[in-house]
This record gives sequence, structure tokens and C-alpha cells, in this order.
Amino acid sequence: MEIIIGRKGQQQITITDLSVSREHCKLTSNPDGTYTLENLSANGTFVNGKSIIRTIVDKNTIIQLGSSYSVAIKDLIPLQQVASPSQQVTENYEEKFRRLKAIYDKYSADKIAIQKEAGVNNFYRMLPMTLLSLVGLGATAIPALGNVAPVIGVIGILLLIYSLVKSYQGSRDNPEKMEALNRQFMIDYVCPKCGNFLGFVPYEVLANKSTCSFCKCKWI
Ligand SMILES: [Zn+2]
Repeated sequence: MEIIIGRKGQQQITITDLSVSREHCKLTSNPDGTYTLENLSANGTFVNGKSIIRTIVDKNTIIQLGSSYSVAIKDLIPLQQVASPSQQVTENYEEKFRRLKAIYDKYSADKIAIQKEAGVNNFYRMLPMTLLSLVGLGATAIPALGNVAPVIGVIGILLLIYSLVKSYQGSRDNPEKMEALNRQFMIDYVCPKCGNFLGFVPYEVLANKSTCSFCKCKWI
């Protein structure tokens, strides 16, 4: 079962609160009797006072939509659809878990690409500065400059160090792209049962652990 909750939603009660969007959030039932709740609104969906993107709830969880509207999950779902414990099924999470490998591989590849791009951009940005410092160093070898030569040499060395440090720093971060990539990864790289983010941990490490440290479910 999957229903959209909102002022124009498919829930069994009518919502008129104007801080609730027409399509505010999505509720998907899980085989174990829990529900996956996903926010769809700029006004936010809150569980225990915390704004959520996607989380696992049960039928008794009270959620807040927008600034002031609170409701229990069980009041949103048609009665016959409220899962009771006796209907719980144990699900095999292996197939869903194995999909995390592709997500991690793509994340690593994208991360390397962003870092490489930042490094190249920065090399070109710092190129004039580097050339200038080399000219400065070269000038020290011209005898006609006499006493001024060592001063120019020192300035040249300082410029060179500055440009090297700058281009090194730049290659480490390309903040906006990196942030967007990390944000998406934190939404996708989650336990197939409880939906908790599994950390920036390689897939192989998780596969070796084989169990979720949050919900203790067995992945493989
Ligand atoms: Zn879990």
C-alpha cells in the first residue's frame, strides 16, 4: 500500500489545515507492519519534533505536517490496511541490500570525479601566480639586478608556496557539489528494513557485518 497524505491526499480523513500541502508526504506500508514516511512538502514533515526526509514509523506514531497539524498514522490509513502483528511476515532483505553496492560504487566514482574537477580548475586558476613566482625566482640570476636580486628571489619563493598551498586546498573541496552528493547518498544508502543511514562505509564492510546495527535485521 502506498498513499499520498495532504489536503488533496488519499488518506481516510479530510485535512484542511493550510500549512499542510496538497501532497504533503507519502506513506508506504512495509511487510513487517511498519510504514515508510517520506516528506514531499517544503513546509516539512516532523516526527518527535524533528524534520524528516524519510523515516520508518508505526501505526501509533504521531506525525506533524507543516507548522501545526498533528495526526496519528493509524488515523490516516483505511482501517483494513492497518497492519496487525499477526499479519507480520519476515522478509528477505538480501536482494534490496545487494542494491546498495551500486549506490556505493556510484558515490565513490562521483566523489573522485568532483575532486579531480576541483583540482584541474584550481590548477588553471593558480597558473598565473605560479608563473609570476617562477619569473621572480629567475630574476635573481640576472647579475644586473645586483642587491635587489635576493629580495625578488624571496618574494618569488613566497608566491610559489602560496600558490601551491592554494591549489592543494582547492583540490580537497568543491563544497556545493560535494554537499549535494553527500546529501543524496545519505538518502539512498540506508538499511532496507529500518531506513537508517548506514554511514560513509564501503559496501564490502557492511556485507561482512551482514546485520544492521540499528534494527538488528539480517541483510545476507
Ligand atoms: Zn536496519
